[in-house]
Amino acid sequence: MKQSETQKRQDQAETLLSLKNLKSYFHLEENLIKAVNGVTFQVKKNEIVGIVGESGSGKSVTALSILRLLPTPPCQLSGEIRFQGRDLLQISERQMQDVRGGEISMIFQEPMTSLNPVLSIGYQIAESIRLHQHLQKRSAWDKAVEMLNLVKIPEAARRARQYPHELSGGMRQRAMIAMALSSNPALLIADEPTTALDVTTQKQILYLIKDLQHQLGTSVMFITHNLGVVAEIADHVAIMYAGRLLEYGEVHDIFHYPKHPYSLCLLRSIPRLDASKNLRLEEIPGRVPALNELPQGCIFHPRCPYAIERCREQEPPYTQVDDGHLTMCWRYDQLPQPDKKVSEPANLSAARETSAMSALRVVHLKKYFSVKKIEMLGKAGIVKAVDDVSFEVKQGEVLGLVGESGCGKTTLGMCILRLLEATEGQILINGRDVTSLAEREMTAMRQHLQVIFQDPYGSLNPRMKIGQIVGEPLLVHKLTANPQEKQAKIIDMLEKVGLDRIHIDKYPHELSGGQRQRIAIARALIVSPKIVICDEAVSALDVSIQAQIINLLKELQTTLHLTYLFISHDVSVVKHISDRIAIMYLGKMVELAAAETVCQTPKHPYTQALISSVPIPDPEKKPEYIALKDEIPSPMHIPPGCRFHPRCPFMQERCRTEEPEFREISQGWFAACHFA
Ligand code: SF4
Ligand code: SF4
Repeated sequence: MKQSETQKRQDQAETLLSLKNLKSYFHLEENLIKAVNGVTFQVKKNEIVGIVGESGSGKSVTALSILRLLPTPPCQLSGEIRFQGRDLLQISERQMQDVRGGEISMIFQEPMTSLNPVLSIGYQIAESIRLHQHLQKRSAWDKAVEMLNLVKIPEAARRARQYPHELSGGMRQRAMIAMALSSNPALLIADEPTTALDVTTQKQILYLIKDLQHQLGTSVMFITHNLGVVAEIADHVAIMYAGRLLEYGEVHDIFHYPKHPYSLCLLRSIPRLDASKNLRLEEIPGRVPALNELPQGCIFHPRCPYAIERCREQEPPYTQVDDGHLTMCWRYDQLPQPDKKVSEPANLSAARETSAMSALRVVHLKKYFSVKKIEMLGKAGIVKAVDDVSFEVKQGEVLGLVGESGCGKTTLGMCILRLLEATEGQILINGRDVTSLAEREMTAMRQHLQVIFQDPYGSLNPRMKIGQIVGEPLLVHKLTANPQEKQAKIIDMLEKVGLDRIHIDKYPHELSGGQRQRIAIARALIVSPKIVICDEAVSALDVSIQAQIINLLKELQTTLHLTYLFISHDVSVVKHISDRIAIMYLGKMVELAAAETVCQTPKHPYTQALISSVPIPDPEKKPEYIALKDEIPSPMHIPPGCRFHPRCPFMQERCRTEEPEFREISQGWFAACHFA
């Protein structure tokens, strides 16, 4: 393999941080939890290393171990953490305090948990500067404003006087970055810093981190579960699984020539915006093992499609497969490349058909909330969460509903389910307007209209057994003649969602996240509904489990001829499962067309910006990025004219005053822009 320029540059670079056989073990009662188990890798000066892994992989514990932020006991650290020539495991707590926040800074997913809500942003940054740089109050304040400017917070001097709640999510994360970089650290550890942000804001923050890293020469350890994000930002990538580092290498090699089956399977299991929607996602069977019940031999062997007898008995050692490319697999030299395509089964694609008949029609729907004045948080007003939305879903169709936080997509779903009462408009199911149904009629209607929520744990009663949970809707809708029939239907439904009948007597807490979501699906489908609203139904799942559930939802939709309204913030997932996609912005639908059309040739400027912000899990693919100004305004302060105009790169004078109509710009393709 030809050595790339990046590789050469990195080879010449000096090592800043070097982990050798790092172990973070927790002694909890009878259990020994090996949260980080023998991790070895390096971060060089002026580079970004992406640490990727699913829940429980040990990526965050690795970061906390580096900063010695874990309580000892129960945690016991061993190995070596060499940073700028010193082993951080050997220095005193006093010396470590200088390292934390001085030489190594850390930012987290949720800035609100790190910022003090009763102190201004500027004060908090200035305090951190005074602590580490011993400046006078005035100079520290000036430096704080300078840092806010550096992270591109507009009107930095004014913003410095504001409190955290007065800033948007993206702005707060910028403030956290400003604070973290104010001490001029050699290393910034960023733990899922963009996970809670909308995709357009995420892109802005990724650009900012990359920019600052170049400008200041700071090295970055970027922890994420998102392969697209890592492809976008990292020079080197470490793949972690159940406390082990399974593969480490240059970003190009990891994405194009992975040498570990787990990396390969992860790459094949994610829905991609740049791939055909008829490809089947590769599933990784089973789930990540509990850290106190790790399998013998290779820890990935129970899920590995390439496992051989030897893998079950002997753990593979680290092998250097190429310059700086490490893997932990017996069969690293026999793996295929990740871009092999797996089409969905022919019987499924042939069986998928959409009727011309309408399953759901929403007509001029509005949902307004009045907001009382809350001390400190602002004035009273009206939130126009859904503001005159009309669309139709055909029988057997999947309509994806996409938008960022506050766009109104979930409120729209709740109105259709009548979990919220619409302010105005009609919702027609089988020709009947559900907004005017009496409670008893609505209960009967719910047999045809089911929902699957994001958090299966929150939506399943922890005191009920799985059999009771799945069978309950049969009783509510009086769909069984006797207990035997009910039991048979429950078993049949469990099998349809890929679960064995032995689960009937278990409780939700005894199941994994993926299994719980299967139960939520079984409960929704046991009454043979016609329409299913999937509200962020796969968003809380780890990548390897997400593929299993997406494939399952797709199969069930086809075999049971279901109609889905698939609500999600994730455009790649929505594209994979939907026939058509509707994009919402600030309570309005701004574009609606066939899924491929919306993703490949979007017409509305907001859709264009949204699509251009979606991270692609390929470091070589860098589609043109359309940067948006600022962030989504509050739905209490909707701009006049086109509500997107303050952020639109193509705004003209008339956009300020004239609201564009949501009109058909060509057959079946709708957009709300004067110039589409
Ligand atoms: S060592 Fe065996 S089980 Fe482990 S990843 Fe390699 S092929 Fe799979
Ligand atoms: S109407 Fe104007 S502001 Fe609105 S999206 Fe179109 S060009 Fe942009």
